[in-house]
Amino acid sequence: MPDPSLALDPITSPVTGAALPLLDLPASAPRDARPGISGASPQELLSWFADRGEPAFRARQLADHIWSGRAGAFDDIHTLPGGLREALAADYRFDTLVGTDRRKADGGLTDKALHRLDDGRVVESVLMRYPARGSRRERTTLCISSQAGCAVGCPFCATGELGLWRDLLPSEIIDQARYWRRELLAEGRRLTNIVFMGMGEPLLNADAVLAACAALSDGNRFGLGQRHIAVSTSGVIPGIERLTALQRQYTLAVSLHAARPELRDVLVPLNRRYPLHDVVRAATEYAEVTGRRVTYEMVMIDGINDTAADARAAAALLRERLAHVNLIPMNPVAHTPWQPSPPERVEAFAVILRAAGLDTTVRRNRGLDIGAACGQLAAEHAGQPAPDAVQRRREAIERRSAAALGSAAAPGNGAPGNGAPGNGAPASGARAPSSDRARARTTRMESGNVGEPA
Ligand code: SAH
Ligand code: SF4
Repeated sequence: MPDPSLALDPITSPVTGAALPLLDLPASAPRDARPGISGASPQELLSWFADRGEPAFRARQLADHIWSGRAGAFDDIHTLPGGLREALAADYRFDTLVGTDRRKADGGLTDKALHRLDDGRVVESVLMRYPARGSRRERTTLCISSQAGCAVGCPFCATGELGLWRDLLPSEIIDQARYWRRELLAEGRRLTNIVFMGMGEPLLNADAVLAACAALSDGNRFGLGQRHIAVSTSGVIPGIERLTALQRQYTLAVSLHAARPELRDVLVPLNRRYPLHDVVRAATEYAEVTGRRVTYEMVMIDGINDTAADARAAAALLRERLAHVNLIPMNPVAHTPWQPSPPERVEAFAVILRAAGLDTTVRRNRGLDIGAACGQLAAEHAGQPAPDAVQRRREAIERRSAAALGSAAAPGNGAPGNGAPGNGAPASGARAPSSDRARARTTRMESGNVGEPA
């Protein structure tokens, strides 16, 4: 039998060759063959009624109830005759989410939902309420999932640990937003922003994600402005190019995490297929064609990607581009050996970026106490991995990152691999051994990756 400690990637991803599922996945139940109604185009619904000899206004009555948030089932649509309601239910599902578990955090400002799909797969969404502050209006941001799991396998991400179960349908993506619109109606709040920062790599499910974006931003359907929808990607260049060709006003967020190729190969394994500089070039073209500033996300990991040398590399890469940088302290995840960067290191990083003229925001995490954001509740649901498997995973990640940091380090550049942090921070090797840290951490937590400025 091969030595499992040598295998970082026990299941090979069709995308990167590097998916990392540690967990036994729950068995998949048969799919419901009926499509979700929210994924049907307005033309499709018009034809459905026309085929039954019904006038066009029936389609408008139906659409009103699909999108308003007032109905939970076809049977709630009393403006439609009973026979039509039954016929609709035979052909479509009103909702593709068959059940939802909820947790609250941040004194009730953050809500996390674990949605169950027809086949037993689960996906997460996180709702964050931002009260009005100064001249800023009240906002309510929803973070949604685009896939059940993810094939990219970033080693700091709980979803990456799950591997890819499957792509979501457009309706399964949209129905996360419809779920929260219904819930928010009762609070008298409106959803103001949607970000694709939940489970999955949106641009590896681009057909469904772009169809969902079209529905979410259509004034006759969900009705959110294009600028209020953000698509976050780990750098899928063909997907970025498709977005550029569409010429919409969606916000593009690129998960950069490292500006040095060797390190990004480790932090974002997709970098081996779509290298950093090409990703930034594609994102810059998006900015130039759409006039929209691109957001670059950097998860800050203690002693790994947070040195002065890393900050200088990011500044050199992004300066003079239509860019905004978000620095997000990593939320600890059970299978990684890493810790979040301390606040003063994140601040020092921000200072270097700002000195290069880059707008930089330090984010605070939301929902830490409930593991808000991608993957953590789903990972819990899938069951805890065996402690020895977690330990082997951590050691493998440490070996891989140490090798990358060693090769990325140039004399005096401050990379922790050479033991000479440029910003006076301790090198990663100065921290407690990973087994001690493993004992100290008994719960699985990971990032609320869309927070507001700290
Ligand atoms: N797959 C896409 C979108 C979903 S992940 C992407 O990677 O961009 C959304 C964001 O959450 C990414 O920027 C990702 O790097 C971040 N993230 C994942 N795990 C995290 C963690 N443990 N701590 C902080 N942010 C995390
Ligand atoms: Fe996938 Fe994004 Fe998580 Fe990476 S950070 S594993 S791309 S969901």
